[in-house]
Amino acid sequence: MAQNADLGMAIEGRLAKLRSKLAEQRLDAILITMMDNVRYISGFTGSTATAIVGKSDAVLLVDPRYTTQANDECRGFRIVEYRRVTERLPRVIAEVEGMKAGSLGFEADYLPYSEYKSLEESRRSNISLVDTQRIVDDLRLIKDAQELDAIKYAIAISDACFEEILVQIKPGLMERDVAIAIDFCMRKHGASKPAFDTIVAAGPHAALPHAQPGDRILERGQLLKMDFGAEYQQYPSDLTRTVCLGQPDAKQREVYNTVLEAQLKAIDAIRPGIAGKDVDSVARDHIAAAGYGKYFGHGLGHSLGRGVHDGPGLSQTSPIILEPGMVMTVEPGIYIPGWGGVRIEDDVLVTDDGCEILTKATKELLAL
Ligand code: ZN
Ligand code: ZN
Repeated sequence: MAQNADLGMAIEGRLAKLRSKLAEQRLDAILITMMDNVRYISGFTGSTATAIVGKSDAVLLVDPRYTTQANDECRGFRIVEYRRVTERLPRVIAEVEGMKAGSLGFEADYLPYSEYKSLEESRRSNISLVDTQRIVDDLRLIKDAQELDAIKYAIAISDACFEEILVQIKPGLMERDVAIAIDFCMRKHGASKPAFDTIVAAGPHAALPHAQPGDRILERGQLLKMDFGAEYQQYPSDLTRTVCLGQPDAKQREVYNTVLEAQLKAIDAIRPGIAGKDVDSVARDHIAAAGYGKYFGHGLGHSLGRGVHDGPGLSQTSPIILEPGMVMTVEPGIYIPGWGGVRIEDDVLVTDDGCEILTKATKELLAL
């Protein structure tokens, strides 16, 4: 398949940003082994490859299954075939422009130790290996136009499926019937696959934040929590909605409204310059003030990118300061053992002066 023009331009932009990071860190080239990073920088869609990006050169090492595909997909890259990466890599590195001597960064979090050893043993003495962390990962936090298009499309798929699935949900079905229907619906709407294992949890089971859908029968009066996402052109959406089977009682309403208010307040606080942990605090403080603090155990949200949980986001341990172009999930929840749980999750784009809620699915408490 021919590479589309937008992606080609996006790749050029990504390479330029990476090269300026390399210059900042006085690196002559970087070895990229983390697959999401490889795919991001090269446009490659296969399962395994290694990239080396130098000052003016970019090389993609692929095994013979992928040679033709890589030549099609990765126009700015020289494609080199290998059978055993540990044998070929040192020779290829020496061929990269500017790497006759110099410093080669590697991704310390992702290079297997055995490959590091073999690289170190066989490298030329005038190449120094420098461990780096999150160089490409941090570039990926800020989405370019091509990535945003894919994410928005993925979100449109999950939004459409939420609406379609509502008419199918009724007492007597099993949780997994609903999960299967959601997955089918997303594929039907163009998703390449579910972005992660769909969560459907009814009644007390919804007290588990990451419950697996099972044989539990949906009953009238229960809350039903659904967390699912579509993958489109390798980018995901991530959506959680909680609905009620029949009319909600007073407690269900109160918990739902508390979560919704916490979510709306947090979204209101999102703007460039605010720390991820401070956005988390806005939602956490609201839930605590309503008396449910101990029932909100997870972080408020995560960065959304190639990986669904794609780096630090909105939590008490997050080092992140929000910048325009970041996409974050905002997903407070209250989970009460023996009673059930409510979570509401939207995907939000940080803009120049605030944020845009990309998710359009209704957040009204629906009585099905
Ligand atoms: Zn989710
Ligand atoms: Zn999420």
